[in-house]
Amino acid sequence: MGASAKTRVEKLREELNRHNHLYYIDARPQVSDQQYDRLMRELVELETAHPEFAAADSPTQRVGGAPIESFVTIEHRVPMRSIDNTYDEAEVRAFDERVRKNLGGEQPAYVVEPKIDGVSGSIRYENGLMVLAATRGDGRRGDDITAQARTIRSLPLRLHGDGDIPAILEIRGEVYMPNAVFQQLNKERAEAGEETYKNPRNLTTGTLKQLDPKITASRKLQFISHGLGQVEPLPTDSYWDWIQLLKRWHLPVAEKTSFAETIDEALKIIHAFATERGSLAYQTDGMVVKVNSFAQRERLGATTKAPRWVMAYKYQAEQMQTVLNGVDWQVGKGGNLTPVARLEPVFLAGTTVSNATLHNLDQIRRLDIHYGDTIVVEKAGEVIPYISQVVVELRPPKAKPIEPPTVCPSCGSKVEKEEDTPYLRCNNPACPAQFREKLKWFCGRNQMDIENVGEALVDQLVNTGLVKTFADLYRLKKEPLMDLERIGEKSAQNVVDSIDGSRQQGLERLLAGLGIRHVGNRVAFVLASHFGSLDALASATAEQFSEVHEIGDVIAECVHAFFHGALGISTVQELKEVGLDPRMERTVKPQAGELPFAGMSIVVTGSMERFTRPQIEAMIVRLGGRASGSISKKTGFLIAGADAGSKLDKAKALGVEVLTEEAFLARAEPH
Ligand SMILES: [Zn+2]
Repeated sequence: MGASAKTRVEKLREELNRHNHLYYIDARPQVSDQQYDRLMRELVELETAHPEFAAADSPTQRVGGAPIESFVTIEHRVPMRSIDNTYDEAEVRAFDERVRKNLGGEQPAYVVEPKIDGVSGSIRYENGLMVLAATRGDGRRGDDITAQARTIRSLPLRLHGDGDIPAILEIRGEVYMPNAVFQQLNKERAEAGEETYKNPRNLTTGTLKQLDPKITASRKLQFISHGLGQVEPLPTDSYWDWIQLLKRWHLPVAEKTSFAETIDEALKIIHAFATERGSLAYQTDGMVVKVNSFAQRERLGATTKAPRWVMAYKYQAEQMQTVLNGVDWQVGKGGNLTPVARLEPVFLAGTTVSNATLHNLDQIRRLDIHYGDTIVVEKAGEVIPYISQVVVELRPPKAKPIEPPTVCPSCGSKVEKEEDTPYLRCNNPACPAQFREKLKWFCGRNQMDIENVGEALVDQLVNTGLVKTFADLYRLKKEPLMDLERIGEKSAQNVVDSIDGSRQQGLERLLAGLGIRHVGNRVAFVLASHFGSLDALASATAEQFSEVHEIGDVIAECVHAFFHGALGISTVQELKEVGLDPRMERTVKPQAGELPFAGMSIVVTGSMERFTRPQIEAMIVRLGGRASGSISKKTGFLIAGADAGSKLDKAKALGVEVLTEEAFLARAEPH
């Protein structure tokens, strides 16, 4: 058994490494994400059952180990220097002239590569094994991010070559977040009513600062190498050859990296890349021109600031000047006030821009922006337009600075500033603007899914006073709808029908639709399946909420406060009046007969694949067990899904048996 398990472990590691490479380096995956996850789970299970096979370079190390206490400072053996950069082509030519002069008239060859907009880091391999990763920090000292770097799938944990890998190999490069990952994360946050992230680079920085590598793993960071630190022995004398070696060792290098015999060729490459860069999967902000020969680099040396053999050319961000006409404070569904600049319309990077976000109060103060100011509006990549600076010289005389509102622009109640944040809030739960945003959310695809009630109609329904509460929606008749702009009899009927159809939706969707702070779809499902009805939710205490598996104290208090506030009480009452009172099966009872889990306490953690966690817990109860939230020595076993955290560690430490979802299902339904 031991020998065959060992063979299987080795086979799985090889397979997973091969799929990683196909996916992240070659961009031609051969298996689906599900198939990949299945292989990974099998390996986790085998390594758990056979701790003697554990290895630092196992692909299982990528799912993120235990959280670290704090970051340790690391001294770079070879400093990570910054490089000179310019927006001016003439300066690139001047750089070339300086290089040739310092080389006594020799013509150097250059390598030109994309400048990735990420976070610089250093990865160290010793005898082919990844041993250390560090951030750039101040160039001499950075943070140890080895645990975080292990989760970067494009970075091999062990290098494979033809015996030519240097014993000490330190590569420098850029950690970045692919555009698609960034957009997906922001989409999820927007849907949950949370503040969205500004750009992929900021989020990469934040992700690397996570003490819990499991969070880092979930953010799918990538790495591209663009330099070398300590390398012993150095296997080549030029950077171009070095890149070819990195490719051979399956280390990631930038696509569109080119060789240039002269500075003219380099500039041609830079011009071509200006239009190509938009199609890359990550953000770039320029190109870097480097002398190819290491011997020439040595002769050129460095100034106190930067090496003399490298220069970055940065592309101008797409930007235009226009005039600020005013600032609107938009009220979100949770009551946050977001300043939006109203601009004199201007054509920028393919679209007419008349609004730009000002993010929050801090941003307004930082820009010191006044009404009537001429401002510079920019658009970087896919990101929404923003104001990058104010042209102070063009400020009209007696212009007034922008002051935050003291009352909510919608309901007139006093605006409050959240402590320690730059955010303003309207805390009136009955605020019409909040309700308008909440109603849009309520009708949304993942909540009540009312197809014919879109955002524009919600605006009309709220503005005309036809709908003041969720229940009003269900009281709507065809006739008043037909008085609204652009609504004929047929579409009015469709609206009424689709609202009526939403009565079928389950308790979890209705609960999610109410827009209670911190209650997204997942939390709503957990609460709905635990309490089973609006009445049960409305009468639960805060303690009863926080006793529910997955529900923390903050959520528990918010939910309790909602159901006991005037608005929550009337919302529940009115919904019941119009016939919305869905129930969810919650009383799971043990089956009759002999039960496999009789008397056992069983814990479920991580995300499951075939069933939801509440379904698994219901299964446990049906089969005689007790679904518990915490691990102890008395725990029968732990069912661990993907991204299992501290409970898995604790189970291992206590010697509690760990099962995958599949292994559990096999025990639950023996054939
Ligand atoms: Zn308000």
